[in-house]
Amino acid sequence: MRLIICLAFVGALVAVPVLVSTQQPASPAATSGVSPHARQVHDAAIVIDSHDDTTQRLLSEKGFDLGTRHENGNIDIPRMRDGGLDALFFSIWVPSDITGPPAVKKAMDQIDAVREAVRKHPNDLVIARTAADIRKAAAEHKIAALMGMEGGHMIDDDLGLLRDYASLGVRYLTLTHFKNNNWADSSTDKPAHNGLTPFGKDVVRELNRLGVMVDISHVADKTFYDALEVTKAPVIASHSSCRAIANHPRNMTDDMLRALGKNGGVVMINYEVSFLSEEYRVASEKQNGDVVTALAAMSKKCGGNEACSTLENARINTEAMKSGKLPKVQWEKIIEHIDHAVKMAGIDHVGLGSDFDGATMPLGLEDASKLPKITDALLKKGYSEQDVTKILGGNILRVMEAVERARTQN
Ligand SMILES: [Zn+2]
Repeated sequence: MRLIICLAFVGALVAVPVLVSTQQPASPAATSGVSPHARQVHDAAIVIDSHDDTTQRLLSEKGFDLGTRHENGNIDIPRMRDGGLDALFFSIWVPSDITGPPAVKKAMDQIDAVREAVRKHPNDLVIARTAADIRKAAAEHKIAALMGMEGGHMIDDDLGLLRDYASLGVRYLTLTHFKNNNWADSSTDKPAHNGLTPFGKDVVRELNRLGVMVDISHVADKTFYDALEVTKAPVIASHSSCRAIANHPRNMTDDMLRALGKNGGVVMINYEVSFLSEEYRVASEKQNGDVVTALAAMSKKCGGNEACSTLENARINTEAMKSGKLPKVQWEKIIEHIDHAVKMAGIDHVGLGSDFDGATMPLGLEDASKLPKITDALLKKGYSEQDVTKILGGNILRVMEAVERARTQN
């Protein structure tokens, strides 16, 4: 462990040496209330977040640097270090109504933006493609940067393009975003294909062959069951929560959670307040319409700048919670969803998919620096160290390895 010796001068003459470790949380306030034992378990685990929208900031916010600590948003290197985050999937996301070559160009620009951000910070970040890459990065005290593509419309109905994305490092494909595409139905659109079309099933088969994970977050229930029928490898829900607790179509029903467990896959719990709390969801829909409608309206206001849109939306919602205009959603709701998903899918099938920088966070889990609170709460709830380690990242690592094995068998 590297130690930096800082000299703090008291008065003009007395020098007091202060030891600061680069591996320890820089801001103790960030994890206040977390027991030393929980911090130890957290730091020993490989902590993985499967869905972050920070890519939008990289691309559209002039001067945004991952290496600087920010007051707004949820992710940057200092706060990831504070929160002991070892790996994250940067989302490659283009709104559903942008299709064809313009969507492909935007997706390529985002892949480049992620790779360039990693290149700028070689001491902290490294591109990873496999579970082994993530383990290696963690051993070297670097944060592994991976990419997931959020929305099948970006492949422009072309399996060749899907192969190109895979070769550039895309490690999962979310079959749809908020709207249906030409081959799959979305959970937040009117059914058009009765789930997956024959081409949609070919996409799933090609993902299996390439060793790229099939992501069923955002898809219609029928699309989920169709994907499960076709896939030869475990699938993931990169950022979804439980419908039994918050009745939003973006969340998974108990039957879906059980089916995902049987498939060997993993549901990565989303921290968006509308997906965590039924009380908040109902109140906020009454005020602003569904989260999908609210985000579309904000995007228009921001002139299509999606970083502006999500950050502004989160700021307004957080303000409304704090002032009492909307019900307060506390961070412990995340624990409730994790616990429910564990009961339905099994302890080997649940993980963390925050939706940082793409959603409104619950009070108390404002950014990546607060992640050790999840470990502390799960231990206090009676989860064993081994089980907590699975939820923090072990389960998604196992799924990645299974998907990688399925690739070589084809
Ligand atoms: Zn999403």
